[in-house]
Amino acid sequence: MLLIPCPWCGPRDEVEFHYGGQAHVAYPEDPGSLSDAEWARYLFFRDNPKGPFAERWSHTAGCRRWFNMVRDTATNEIHAVYRPGEPRPVVA
Ligand SMILES: [Zn+2]
Repeated sequence: MLLIPCPWCGPRDEVEFHYGGQAHVAYPEDPGSLSDAEWARYLFFRDNPKGPFAERWSHTAGCRRWFNMVRDTATNEIHAVYRPGEPRPVVA
């Protein structure tokens, strides 16, 4: 069980949150110009690293806000939590 530090509410139990996938995936500037393969890559292809990974989370049972979290996918260690629009912190 994770204890996730919401940037607005503070530490809360993992059950209050929903996972939102990889963070910092930019919407294409001109989606109509993409081929089907390029569109599929945008929609479905995500990084899957072993180690620190920037993810989106929503505090659905709390403030209902979205935020980003850098979590180690191998150990579940939380390296950083930051609000949307803030730069991704540098972690080892
Ligand atoms: Zn919250």
